[in-house]
Amino acid sequence: MAIENAKQMLLKATAEKYAVGAFNITNIIQMKAVVKAAVRKKSPLIIQTSVSPSKFLQPEVLGAVYRTIAEQAPIPICLHLDHCNDVDYCKTCADVGYTNIMIDASHHDFEENIRQTREVSDYCHARDLSVEGELGTVSGIEDQVIVAEDAAQLCDPEMAIEFVERTGIDLLAPAIGTAHGVYKTSNPKLDFDRLATIADMINGVEPTTPIVIHGGTGLAPGVVRKLVALGGSKFNVSTELKHVLLDTTFDYISANRDQYNPGKVDLAVTESIIGCIEKWMDLLGSSGKA
Ligand SMILES: [Zn+2]
Repeated sequence: MAIENAKQMLLKATAEKYAVGAFNITNIIQMKAVVKAAVRKKSPLIIQTSVSPSKFLQPEVLGAVYRTIAEQAPIPICLHLDHCNDVDYCKTCADVGYTNIMIDASHHDFEENIRQTREVSDYCHARDLSVEGELGTVSGIEDQVIVAEDAAQLCDPEMAIEFVERTGIDLLAPAIGTAHGVYKTSNPKLDFDRLATIADMINGVEPTTPIVIHGGTGLAPGVVRKLVALGGSKFNVSTELKHVLLDTTFDYISANRDQYNPGKVDLAVTESIIGCIEKWMDLLGSSGKA
């Protein structure tokens, strides 16, 4: 049950109108913590890594740890490569056990985005893996992908249909105004109508291509629920996990300056991450869906 690609997992989520959290991890302790939370919540789970931590930890190591953890877990878990703009590295991760690959060629023109995304789709589909593509651009900083707010372009619904058909992607990340990093305002401008139109055009008759929402950190709970109700079924959360990891580490060490016990720091981080993930799973409606 446990090793799954994202498409299998998200078609069910799209049909039943909940979203699966896709949580960016930067180390193995975080990886184990998000799995623990998902097991407790009986929720499906997508673990994702950006390209830099993937290269730092080595994709082979991540693939092996994922396989070991997922095989033992009583819930479906997917390992996803996030925002990779390098076709060759997408293939490397596909070869070592990632089960969903995001090729982000959204900074290229439409035809080149299609060409690169199609190449990754063909490669991954031959291995029973699923693929996420992005159309339009999400602003902010996500690992090595930096997009200025005024350069971000929202996804055009007609082009989205053509993009899905010509690339063969399994999941679509349409830019609708969400951003990576920390929102500068408590009420960011999101284009809900655009999301509703795209979701309806693509999944209206029958779910075929689940929709991904990027930039989950900092969105108000009501906004998150609305994005899910309108058709978002993979919900990416990255920045919040980084804050929880670093703040918890700082607080623990500050309060226990003479302890020198790394295991206790790991334990404190694990508990904080579990709390954060459980809250997200309840909000996204994935608790109890595994
Ligand atoms: Zn993203």
